[in-house]
Amino acid sequence: MAIYIKTKEEIEIIREGGKRLATILAKVGKMVAPGVTTAELDEYAYKLIKEGGDTPAFLNYKPEGHHKAFPASLCTSTNSEVVHGIPSKRRVLKEGDIICIDLGIKHKGYFTDHAITVPVGKISQKDQKLIDDTKEAMMVGIWAAKNGNTTGDIGYAIESFVNKKYGIVRELSGHGVGIEIHEDPYIPNFGKAGKGVKLIPGMIIAIEPMLTNGKANIEVLNDGYTIITADGSKAAHFEHTILITKDEPEILTML
Ligand code: MG
Repeated sequence: MAIYIKTKEEIEIIREGGKRLATILAKVGKMVAPGVTTAELDEYAYKLIKEGGDTPAFLNYKPEGHHKAFPASLCTSTNSEVVHGIPSKRRVLKEGDIICIDLGIKHKGYFTDHAITVPVGKISQKDQKLIDDTKEAMMVGIWAAKNGNTTGDIGYAIESFVNKKYGIVRELSGHGVGIEIHEDPYIPNFGKAGKGVKLIPGMIIAIEPMLTNGKANIEVLNDGYTIITADGSKAAHFEHTILITKDEPEILTML
């Protein structure tokens, strides 16, 4: 893999793709309610992507080391599932669940990646706090993604904000995005200030902390994809695709 610095023309396309993705994910998020299946969320995401003339990035995507391709457009990860949950007709959402919906699209050949965690009906205050703080951790990471800073500064900012109040999943990370769905650099959600890869204008990266209400250890389910917390604690995950500029970072997956 390589780090790609995007041209002005590429950035324009990715900016448009990011807007489309944000619009779609917000619509899918509004569909989340008790009684809805995760397969229905996936079908809706697929339909909206296709209506816009774009391509789902995760459907049939085969990450390195995997035997079978991911079978859906949307990742749906509920409660103790952290990320990469596979939508299912049998998974009916119920009041009190939390669900992470993670979606990538390819627009005119360029990728964007975005995730939110949302409540299903009424949820506990503790779970709402986990969701709010995970979103804030992402924002803190984004504001650290300034021209001249490093990937380590992003991880350091997130880890400092979390301040041991939650588990930070370490095996998964943010990443470069655009030409491919996953590019360099690797962007851990922990780290040392000043370490890692230097951020420069034209880099497009996905920042995506995953926090748990317990320990940070994870396991993979037998489906080969779904990542769960080892201790069964609930997890939340937020992700934005952002552009490094001369000044403040620009969030591309925003309405
Ligand atoms: Mg991602």
